[in-house]
Amino acid sequence: MTRDEAKLKLVAGGHILAAEGQGDLTRGHISVRLPDDASRFYMKPHSFGFDEMTVDNLVTCDLEGEKVEGWAPRHSEVYIHSEIYKRRPEITSIIHTHPTYSVAFSATGRPMLALSQPSALFVNNYGVYTGSIDLIRSQDMGRGVAEALESFPVVFLKNHGVVVCGTSIEESVIIALMLENACQIHMIAEAAGETASEFPSQDVMALRKKLLSPEQQTVNFNYLSRKLDRRR
Ligand SMILES: [Zn+2]
Repeated sequence: MTRDEAKLKLVAGGHILAAEGQGDLTRGHISVRLPDDASRFYMKPHSFGFDEMTVDNLVTCDLEGEKVEGWAPRHSEVYIHSEIYKRRPEITSIIHTHPTYSVAFSATGRPMLALSQPSALFVNNYGVYTGSIDLIRSQDMGRGVAEALESFPVVFLKNHGVVVCGTSIEESVIIALMLENACQIHMIAEAAGETASEFPSQDVMALRKKLLSPEQQTVNFNYLSRKLDRRR
């Protein structure tokens, strides 16, 4: 992948997140490592919505969270990205959003159960950051989030939002959408009362493997891109 291709895909990822309801005013961000330089990443600019991302307004940051290129302002929460990229060399794309059901789920403090297909991805497979309800505006706080993430793909920022990590933009975007779907079903099912017994954990793990296939992420990401194109 070239730098230009990575920028285009990042913009597409941002537009998909907006179209699928992950936006919260101008809050939230998505980033991707430069394909030929793991010490830098492209990121959505501050003061713009996900749907306003363009190849031109992306900012480039380094692993200290400093902006090294771009005219647009940098998100103060850049440290979520820089500290995770520092700790997790295999991660190439990170998303932070405030989706309604995911935030509500984080506020319950209850564990994720296998109540739906997307939840199979997350049962016993996420961290929880409880350090603050505030913005993650320092390297120290970013480090706290990266530590809470451990080696999981997802960390809930309690009463605040989610951070989703992937080995591609397709993966981080699709997992972020599946996480919100899992949390929505979880909240509805638990609000309805006691939930019935779950399927055996080996069944849940077998489903997880299928849901994690990179082909699936690409097929679904491309579908959501075409859906956006049809709306334009
Ligand atoms: Zn936030």
